[in-house]
Amino acid sequence: MRNIRRIEDFNIDMMSYKVTLIPGDGIGPEVTEATRRVLEATGVKFQWDIGYVGAEIMKTAGTPLPETVLQSIRRNKVALKGPVTTPVGSGFRSVNVALRQSLELYTCMRPCKSYPGIPSPFKNIDIVIVRENMEDLYAGIEFQKGTPEAAKIIEAITELSGKKILPDSGISIKPISETRSRRIVKFAFEFARKNGRRKVTAVHKANIMKFSDGLFLAIAREVAKDYSNIEFEDRIVDNMCMQLVQKPQLFDVIVTENLYGDILSDLCAGLVGGLGVAPGANLSDEIAVFEATHGSAPKYTGLNKVNPMAMMLSGVLMLRHVGEAEQAVRLEKAIASVIAEGKYLTYDLKPGAAEKAVGTLQVADAVIEKLS
Ligand code: NAD
Repeated sequence: MRNIRRIEDFNIDMMSYKVTLIPGDGIGPEVTEATRRVLEATGVKFQWDIGYVGAEIMKTAGTPLPETVLQSIRRNKVALKGPVTTPVGSGFRSVNVALRQSLELYTCMRPCKSYPGIPSPFKNIDIVIVRENMEDLYAGIEFQKGTPEAAKIIEAITELSGKKILPDSGISIKPISETRSRRIVKFAFEFARKNGRRKVTAVHKANIMKFSDGLFLAIAREVAKDYSNIEFEDRIVDNMCMQLVQKPQLFDVIVTENLYGDILSDLCAGLVGGLGVAPGANLSDEIAVFEATHGSAPKYTGLNKVNPMAMMLSGVLMLRHVGEAEQAVRLEKAIASVIAEGKYLTYDLKPGAAEKAVGTLQVADAVIEKLS
């Protein structure tokens, strides 16, 4: 998947891969444990370096993202991460965003693929979303309503643009740079080239945000010129949402900014069966952190209820990344075959027959059974 495929690029000891394992919170520990079990069942050897993040560790470490966890990921270069809860509206900032920013994990790559047997009106979808992870409204540059900082920003904007902003406004800033736009669009084209993909679609709102999204689009068009054998097109984000629901088979690789990527990832996950089967990876040129698209679904914590397949499919991406392509194919086939058989599936893949659904643990057992 990335260009670090040589054995010396990974932290390997006695032919086992050292991987930082972050259980996360909410449903995180259950889905990461299920994934650890199926990964080990492939026969590939791992040494798991466990790292705790989030609200619980904050009580003792004083931060929801301890430096020791970042050091572990930097050392191992590969991590498998469960979801982590972000308090809404107040409390600490997102650990997920902080992790991506601290490690410069500039790409969020999320494949959305139809597996036969998944209950969905849409078939034959194979879309990969490449989302910029570092800037946009997600960069976290914000000014709270009523603070002297917000007042200063409002004053400066009024002075510079002549536009009136109400004094009781909160402000979030949307930086989009040429450097990071070029880097993410290049990643999308390189990914398309290496994986035999035919088309890249850039998604934006350049008609309205001419200096941020307009810049992203201009750079995308420029980069596309270097890849003449890959088709390039662009779509305005609202139109893209409609087209994805009407004719998703038209799309292949989608490259977009941070916020649109966040929203489109869930939309595309919905097309292929939901968050329970939507994997992902956050990548820099050196480090890869594999995690599902879904969050910590707190209401299901500890209930042995949710689908571990999104996390397992993130594990498939991880196997491919470290060069264990054969085992990646084997594990993906085992998951696909459990889906196709339809017997050992969680509630989300058993609409209308929830009483016949099994739990997280049983799905892991079924996948392991297929592997053996
Ligand atoms: P969510 O993805 O946690 O859950 C939304 C709904 O999707 C759930 O209620 C459930 O019905 C379904 N769902 C999610 N995962 C599933 C699975 N594996 N199997 C079956 N059904 C599943 O989204 P949310 O409720 O908006 O967010 C909860 C928390 O997670 C928030 O604090 C949010 O910030 C955080 N979050 C973390 C990450 C991450 O760690 N990368 C990503 C997204 C959200």
